[in-house]
Amino acid sequence: MESIFGYMEKYDYENLFLCQDKAIGLKAIIAIHDTTLGPATGGCRMWPYFSEMEAIEDALRLARGMTYKYAAAGVNLGGGKTVIIGDPYRKDREPIFRTLGKFINRLGGKYLTGEDVGTTLRDMEYIRMETPYVVTLPTYLGGAGDIAPMTAFGTIQAMRACAKAIFGSEKLEGRTVSVQGLGAVGYHVVKQLKEHKAEVTVADINKERVERVVKEFGVKAVAPEEIYDLPVEIYSPCALGATINDDTLKRLKCKIICGCANNQLKEERHGNLVHELGILYAPDYITNAGGTIFDTDRLESGQVNFERGREKVARIYQTMERIIEISKRDHIPTYLAADHLAEERLRYMREVKKYGGDLPPVL
Ligand code: NAD
Repeated sequence: MESIFGYMEKYDYENLFLCQDKAIGLKAIIAIHDTTLGPATGGCRMWPYFSEMEAIEDALRLARGMTYKYAAAGVNLGGGKTVIIGDPYRKDREPIFRTLGKFINRLGGKYLTGEDVGTTLRDMEYIRMETPYVVTLPTYLGGAGDIAPMTAFGTIQAMRACAKAIFGSEKLEGRTVSVQGLGAVGYHVVKQLKEHKAEVTVADINKERVERVVKEFGVKAVAPEEIYDLPVEIYSPCALGATINDDTLKRLKCKIICGCANNQLKEERHGNLVHELGILYAPDYITNAGGTIFDTDRLESGQVNFERGREKVARIYQTMERIIEISKRDHIPTYLAADHLAEERLRYMREVKKYGGDLPPVL
């Protein structure tokens, strides 16, 4: 990024806030991309960035990603993100997060925060001591608690829609699926796939996690590197990003790629390549939106409502169907179709919003 204002103009950002307190050792950046649909919402990441510019760029990029995620998912929230430049294992967390809470409070509800890489629910508790503008909270503070099972549920809905498009039936029974990564979400993806009676093969670099799912669900396991060579119908990346790349595209034999991992395409061109190869790719920000859809649902009434939240997550099925439709209609890869869907909703909602009288979130 050469110029901050140049970058903000290019992608139409609203605000960028820099927050610092020398005595406490806080350096944080809050980026607000677009508040057309509602208050900018997105987690708080803590990471030892190499440079300030790298941190600013990450905050801006992630905030824009949240605008698209909520817009495509039909959620009435805008895109924002906080990054703290710092050691995610830092011990003295209370002053950092309470000070950040003070700064977030000053924004008067234009930005709502939550948990992300390097931050925990405990950190959110500290933020909550200073501001109501925090979404991700433990259940005893009125939040939704662990959202990983709902993220997995959303991924399964996208997978069912992909199966319908490719095999003519959304049923996952008997489908061969490889799941890479058995962490918070991957574990539940395997659990739910087994409930659907799919044939599952798994891999993880963590042996204990592999042993656990093999024992609990009776699935097969392979070494981490072998996962790309399996003759399966569906590959479900649930570990790291960039697993769709030049090397793996030569090896994958699947017809569908649908997992919860963020940033699955190493580069955008891999989204074009997947399309040319005739593999149906379920865009990551669509498949992994379930957790945040569930988590932010309580902003509608101020209370967690499991049934309503789950119902909204289940709509990922229809969203995925719509993306497949747009991809076919416009002869474009699915990752672009998802962007178009989000941009279309933003365009229409700008029209709707001109009449004013928006209902505020209930915190
Ligand atoms: P996690 O850290 O709990 O689990 C990741 C798992 O992947 C770990 O078990 C790790 O050992 C394994 N792994 C790492 N490298 C691997 C490799 N090369 N081969 C096989 N396994 C490997 O993370 P998580 O919360 O389950 O999230 C998984 C992915 O989903 C991440 O990309 C995350 O950004 C994304 N995501 C998660 C959520 C959520 O609700 N937790 C929401 C949206 C997106």
